[in-house]
Amino acid sequence: MIRQPFVDLAAQYAEVREELTPEVADVLVTGIFIGGERVRRFESEFARFCGTAHCVGVASGTDALRIALLAVGVGAGDEVLTAPNSFIATAEAISQCGARPVFVDVRADTLLLDVERLEAARTPRTRAVVPVHLYGQMAEMEAISAWCARHGLALVEDAAQAHGARLGVRGPGSFGAAAAFSFYPAKNLGAAGDAGAIVTDRADVAHRARLLRDHGQAERYVHEIAGFNSRLDALQAAILSVKLRHLAHWTERRRALAALYRERFEKAPGLQLVAEPREPDAHVYHLLVVRLARRDELREALAAGGIETGIHYPVPIHLQGAYHHLGYGQGSFPVAEEAAREVLSLPLYPQLSDDALHRVADTVEAFCRR
Ligand SMILES: *Cc1c(COP(=O)(O)O)cnc(C)c1O
Repeated sequence: MIRQPFVDLAAQYAEVREELTPEVADVLVTGIFIGGERVRRFESEFARFCGTAHCVGVASGTDALRIALLAVGVGAGDEVLTAPNSFIATAEAISQCGARPVFVDVRADTLLLDVERLEAARTPRTRAVVPVHLYGQMAEMEAISAWCARHGLALVEDAAQAHGARLGVRGPGSFGAAAAFSFYPAKNLGAAGDAGAIVTDRADVAHRARLLRDHGQAERYVHEIAGFNSRLDALQAAILSVKLRHLAHWTERRRALAALYRERFEKAPGLQLVAEPREPDAHVYHLLVVRLARRDELREALAAGGIETGIHYPVPIHLQGAYHHLGYGQGSFPVAEEAAREVLSLPLYPQLSDDALHRVADTVEAFCRR
């Protein structure tokens, strides 16, 4: 039996090994591990890639969200609207600011924040909105940013899964105050450990984020505010600079594989692909997600064939013990809850071969026909 992993970071390393290894060795030789030229260089490269004026590297995607929210002024007593079907970090970043996550159900077709439901969740305490570009597809940013502007709310995008996504010419970070990226190893652009970044067009937000990530100092031992230790390592910056050069063609490969899956599943009974993108560039396919009522059975059938899958995410955040105190329950967000029972993520990464994809699709199709 051929084992099919969900992701294959060793295959990715093999592709960039000759460029990457000397860069890592060079950091070790220079001995500059915190800050320095490599961090600044990656920040300017990633800002250019995103089409934003600034990029501030931090220690993780979770910290990128938290620092972005603090930098736009979110704090104790505030409410922040977000989606319940995300990785828990989206809500954690909000509660770590002392604010309260207020969930808003998602659209059934895209599983992205439903702009029509925002108004019902708004109160005088609402301070910001955090749309999640789940699975790599951008939420309806034109409508969401217009709504935020109308009500004077800050907009911070969770772009942890959406490196390089575009609506027209605009990517994450150019619609609202800031966007937060994660470079967790398995993300579309991944470090060799934890890393993240905030991108923004606002100089004031970038300045505040720079202070917050480094103990509140712009100058050594001059602490304007109380901050954190959340810097992007020079080693990670060096690795990210190399991989960034490959991101455009990796994204094209992800899109080609997604198109192949779509073609294969056109006639698979009971199976639905989550979200045809509204625009081709709006989706970077961090994950390839299908939906079906018999999800758990399909997952077992694939596992029996040596094929690894994922569930993003099995329990919506409002039903997690960590957020029990918010007072939500079963039935609070029916769209997100039904999705949690039905979604299944299939192997998809740039180094996946067409043959390997067809083997996965064969097993899925055979299951759907029986
Ligand atoms: C990965 C992820 C995060 C958190 O990023 P880390 O780098 O793991 O801290 C936040 N939100 C979403 C949607 C993610 O997928």
